[in-house]
Amino acid sequence: MKSIASILLTLVICGIFVCRSSSNVNRAKAVFEEYIKALQRGFSTQAKTYWNKQELKQYKSFDWQWVYLTFQGLNPAYLYYKITDAKEQDGYVVLQVEWFYREGKAGPIQKDTRYFLEEDGRVVGANPIFIHTRGWLQKESKHFIYHFKPKQDPPTGGLLKKMDLFFEKVTGNLQVEYPFKIHYYQCDSAGEVGWLFDLEPSQARSQPMNGLAASTQEFAPHEIVHIISYQILPQNGKKLTPVYLDEGLAYYLGGASFLSSEQLIETAKKEIEVCDSISLLDLMHDPWAYGVNQSAALLCSLAKYLIEIHGMPKFKELFSAGESYDEQPEMIFEIYDQSIEQLQIEWKRFVLELPPKR
Ligand SMILES: [Zn+2]
Repeated sequence: MKSIASILLTLVICGIFVCRSSSNVNRAKAVFEEYIKALQRGFSTQAKTYWNKQELKQYKSFDWQWVYLTFQGLNPAYLYYKITDAKEQDGYVVLQVEWFYREGKAGPIQKDTRYFLEEDGRVVGANPIFIHTRGWLQKESKHFIYHFKPKQDPPTGGLLKKMDLFFEKVTGNLQVEYPFKIHYYQCDSAGEVGWLFDLEPSQARSQPMNGLAASTQEFAPHEIVHIISYQILPQNGKKLTPVYLDEGLAYYLGGASFLSSEQLIETAKKEIEVCDSISLLDLMHDPWAYGVNQSAALLCSLAKYLIEIHGMPKFKELFSAGESYDEQPEMIFEIYDQSIEQLQIEWKRFVLELPPKR
């Protein structure tokens, strides 16, 4: 009898749990449907009522996934979606969503992971970084909001000062205004960095659109350059920078995770010395064509050449002229009055003639 009673009790408890859990999942699904309906009809004020208040206040573009759809040159208003999975965990609900063209024959064009949690008794949408950094602490400096976990040491005043000085060096160098504070998240592992953005593990990542950076290091200058240089682009959010220039600039001003810009230049010099076939067109087409480290070095040296020989105004013009690979030679001719072949010869000569590092 005792065991039957305990089995019944277990069943009741499980039943309550399943019921509560599925109701949260259903609430999240309903909110998602209403939210997308509002967005697709262009009712942005209504759409915002389905999102958490902190991210609405903090971000320029509060729904990352929606922006990623528009980055693909798509108009999400005309797309179809399907919720392929839904589950509740650790106080939030995760929906997997696939987006399709009308016919859907070509398969999904984007897969979103969407998060929902309860705020003031209502279910609202959130980005992964919001969900996963609940309970973290923060310390503010002039240009940064530094986020760290309670078990970690807070950033020292010296570190924050160093970050502020770097910020001012980059805005000065690029001649851009950056009127916001950058949110910097100090993580334990590459996996955690990826988790905050719902992307693959990485030592460091940034999201320039909303001024966010995360890294396993206490400070990642490279990512800060990505964030500040995003301000060079026309602020309608429609244009992206070609990767070879975006990365080149970040390596030139911010180095790589474990290498300084000077070390990258030394590597570029060696690469150009030993390999005649290095081609600018190849780098434009596939910025990682020569291997991760070698390519980083070559991109860094290219940005250095363009900026130090031809000046920042022209670099900024090319940086914001559009990302299409096919158009790069034409843009270069228009801006630099040189063919891509001439530019390649001049770039290599510049790198080879740089004085050795002391
Ligand atoms: Zn980068």
